[in-house]
Amino acid sequence: MGKKKTLWETYTPEQLAAANAFCEDYKVFMSNCKTERECVSGIIDLAEEKGYRDLNELLKEGTELKAGDKIYVSNRGKMMMLVQLGECTFKEHINILGGHIDSPRIDLKPTPLYEDSGFGLMKTHYYGGIKKYQWLALPLALHGVIAKKDGRVINVVIGEDPSDPVFGITDLLPHFDKDMRTKPIGTAFTGEDLNVSFGSIPTEDGEESSVRKNILNILKEKYDMDEEDFLSAEFEIVPAGPARDYGIDRGMIMAYGHDDRICSYTSALAQLAYADTVTKHTLVSLLVDKEEIGSVGATGMQSRFFENAMAEIMNLAGEYTELNMRRILSTAKMLSSDVTNGFDPNYASIHDKNNAPFFAFGPTLHKYTGGGGKGGSNDASPEFIAEIRKIYDDNEIRFQLAELGKVDGGGGGTIAYIMGNYNMDVIDLGIPVHSMHAPWETASKVDIYEAYRAYKAFLEFM
Ligand code: MN
Ligand code: MN
Repeated sequence: MGKKKTLWETYTPEQLAAANAFCEDYKVFMSNCKTERECVSGIIDLAEEKGYRDLNELLKEGTELKAGDKIYVSNRGKMMMLVQLGECTFKEHINILGGHIDSPRIDLKPTPLYEDSGFGLMKTHYYGGIKKYQWLALPLALHGVIAKKDGRVINVVIGEDPSDPVFGITDLLPHFDKDMRTKPIGTAFTGEDLNVSFGSIPTEDGEESSVRKNILNILKEKYDMDEEDFLSAEFEIVPAGPARDYGIDRGMIMAYGHDDRICSYTSALAQLAYADTVTKHTLVSLLVDKEEIGSVGATGMQSRFFENAMAEIMNLAGEYTELNMRRILSTAKMLSSDVTNGFDPNYASIHDKNNAPFFAFGPTLHKYTGGGGKGGSNDASPEFIAEIRKIYDDNEIRFQLAELGKVDGGGGGTIAYIMGNYNMDVIDLGIPVHSMHAPWETASKVDIYEAYRAYKAFLEFM
């Protein structure tokens, strides 16, 4: 890698300015959108500005869809799809981008609140692959929704405004952590220990005095929430605070949830960039939930949401038949986009340096992911990779082709294999990050912008 130049050196001044401007918007998005729901509503806001319309409304009106029409589909507010019909509508292959918008975090349990020794605490159950010790003694925020029995859904965000209080999980002082210190890192701290400190002031009613009751009074007053409402609430504990520039030269961004909003945001923005033109092929961006826990459930990639929504859109375009549907799924071309494990000099030993993704060299194509002999991976065809190489070389887009890490060193998966089940051409293309799955992850600004360019070129030329 030593002789090749980074994007910092090869970008023109105009490209550098565009990359910086793009990343300013990305930081705003990342600071405001820390749950899958917040990502869906954030992207829908951007799509509506570009003339996208809700599929549900189009269905109600029975609107006939034609080339150039732009549709968004939300699945329970936690997973979504953008579709822009091209000249070919559904008569030729469609081009798909996909990423996930769920990130590792700590969820509240259904009955979370208890009091112990003068503290009001919340029991939690972590979501996705976290290293538990990383979440101790950090400012944390609470994001989520309360679904009331009367049908109202109340949004809650506490800990992001500088005037808000924050929450946290306590750590043990080094003076007295001898037992913890001698244990392996994976067992020193258990999931049941991840209790969030939530309050410390008791109510003022004598013997009945309780911190717990005081917390419930505050929740009632501010959010019209009763204790039973925890049963139908979805509360996520995430790192508090905005995304920020990282490094004295401001070349990187530190944010919560780069995995995988960094690919989801850039994919969605790439598609929205074509809102004012009629493209040749139909464009699709899929932003999915539940990837971090196996792509399961109604809002995960394995659900029938994608094909059901596509069937509705094909039907409104007058092109739905079972056979057409099968053809569209099996001839589609897809970039499944997820972050990759950027080479880190602090942990060089986990990589084969000749096959490692580096910061500032552009998005990374993964022919395969998986682990233990490519287990569980979607192994992309070389013919498909050749098509992508041609598009990127013709349009001067930088990319790398790499592995996640050393053979038998570990592994990881994405949504690629699930789309592969439709028999479509799909390959992983992701942005390198450091500290993946930590509360604060980092990535290079030029990789973010180059990925955006790469998604745009794929949509236009594939
Ligand atoms: Mn991911
Ligand atoms: Mn992940």
